[in-house]
Amino acid sequence: MSQTTSAIAEIMCAFCKGTGKDPFDLLSELAACQVCGGTGKVEVVEPVIKCAFCKGTGVYHNTRITCTVCGGKGMVTAPKGETIQCAECNGTGVAIDSGMPCLKCKGKGVISK
Ligand SMILES: [Zn+2]
Ligand SMILES: [Zn+2]
Ligand SMILES: [Zn+2]
Repeated sequence: MSQTTSAIAEIMCAFCKGTGKDPFDLLSELAACQVCGGTGKVEVVEPVIKCAFCKGTGVYHNTRITCTVCGGKGMVTAPKGETIQCAECNGTGVAIDSGMPCLKCKGKGVISK
């Protein structure tokens, strides 16, 4: 019997680049980052990989909203076990036809082997 405890990685918040402030000043200059709540740090369950969909920026491309794949953290939990590049989106995490997160890999760019 082995107990599975998920390790949690503490990483810099990608959306505000660790500043803790709303990067787009949507509410006010002093508004706290909605992703990390103003701490500049976020937690992601290991193993952690860079979010393919936003390329680790935490921003949904061409918008001012948080990436829907990583929630603005810039990193996501990798699929279980061995992973391979998603052939559907060529590892970009972006569906070629719609520009939305790839349905096969859910925007992570990799899938379980
Ligand atoms: Zn933040
Ligand atoms: Zn993302
Ligand atoms: Zn994909």
